[in-house]
Amino acid sequence: MAKIQSIRGMPDVLPEASALRLWVEDRLRGVLDRYGYQQVRMPLLEATALFARGVGDGTDIVEKEMYSFDDRSGESLTLRPEGTAGCVRLCEEHGLLYNQTQRLWYQGPMFRYERPQKGRYRQFEQLGVECFGFPGPAIDAELLGLCSDFWAALGVSDALTLELNTLGSPEARAHYRDALLAYLRPLASQLDEDSQRRLERNPLRILDSKAPETQALLEDAPTLEGSLDAVSREHFDALRRYLDALAIPYVVNPRIVRGLDYYTHTVFEWTTTALGAQGTVCGGGRYDGLVERLGGRPTPGIGFAMGLERLTLLAEAQGLGPVLDGNLDVYVLALDEAHTAQALALGHQLRQALPRLRVQVHCSEGKAKARFKKADASGARYALILGDAEVSQGTVAMKDLRAREGEQRTVALATLIDQWRADYGAEGP
Ligand code: ATP
Ligand code: MG
Repeated sequence: MAKIQSIRGMPDVLPEASALRLWVEDRLRGVLDRYGYQQVRMPLLEATALFARGVGDGTDIVEKEMYSFDDRSGESLTLRPEGTAGCVRLCEEHGLLYNQTQRLWYQGPMFRYERPQKGRYRQFEQLGVECFGFPGPAIDAELLGLCSDFWAALGVSDALTLELNTLGSPEARAHYRDALLAYLRPLASQLDEDSQRRLERNPLRILDSKAPETQALLEDAPTLEGSLDAVSREHFDALRRYLDALAIPYVVNPRIVRGLDYYTHTVFEWTTTALGAQGTVCGGGRYDGLVERLGGRPTPGIGFAMGLERLTLLAEAQGLGPVLDGNLDVYVLALDEAHTAQALALGHQLRQALPRLRVQVHCSEGKAKARFKKADASGARYALILGDAEVSQGTVAMKDLRAREGEQRTVALATLIDQWRADYGAEGP
């Protein structure tokens, strides 16, 4: 029978790659802890209407990338394509935004029907951060500082550039939208196909079109800068001062608009040239209008999300990652089936006495020779061997698997545990 394959664009993660991912995730979580951010977990499925409203009808995501289906009762559900809308829903549903501020993060798979390629998948994982209840620019700076600490913790700071822009207040943005539309309408027939479609629904998106003919037309377009009011300017200027105080370098890129309708003021992307076309590792911005749009009271919000696959690819490209030292310290083997119970018990006892020790017990059948072979291949530093003599005397034979002459000595178990504690501390090696 033909084997069933995985779904296109939904990659498996094998043990070695997973070790690198865990290494990345551990470092990111360490930074989030040091900033006092709290984790939330949303379900993978939400009502389709949440994304239609929360991400926006005119966006690529809602127009062509969602996995939506009717469940058995006919309700339209969608596999989440991003985390912000679900996070806002969670906060509203549980009253987390009432008279309080929140600094939250989440991590998990997202789903988008895109053309799969390196760094672009149909199931991918994001780590996202969302903060609510902070109208001023200090939190914008804090979030960018948090990102910058992420990169430092991974060792990829040099490979990433912060590109920053402001979309201004909703009024400034609306004013600019009109100005841009007035400029582009007479040129509509010269725009690329995607941009023509966006013209009336989401003209700002045209700014980040990749089509050269469109980019050429945009050279003389009005700039958002010209539409900014005093409040918008002050928000952006203050953010820039704070970034200087934090010594975070950035470039202002007026073409950064982000995909979603609801962004206001600060928008940013962290980009790299090390990953080819999929160069945006992290993107985010301020979305002061979103909570209200999803039925809540007006509440300022700001957040970002980063793709963990792209970040891991970047760390890998820089030669970074965990020092791989095998996944075991000790391999316990009985020389004979008859001593399996003792071997299992010994493994259990070691893990309890020395919580950091990584212990595996031989669980296959076979002759003594095959068992030793398994021990050698396990990558463990020590083999602890139980034969007839050891079991009857309450001892264990200990073999250093990395020593050349593989010498073996007999030790009482208590002595071994005490010695490891003395050498490495209470937790063991
Ligand atoms: P892109 O322009 O690359 O499509 P985007 O603007 O759609 O990105 P966001 O919605 O801002 O991306 O998501 C934040 C981050 O999630 C991206 O910067 C990227 O690192 C990651 N990401 C987005 N889509 C994918 C995908 N299909 N596969 C892998 N990572 C992705
Ligand atoms: Mg996209």
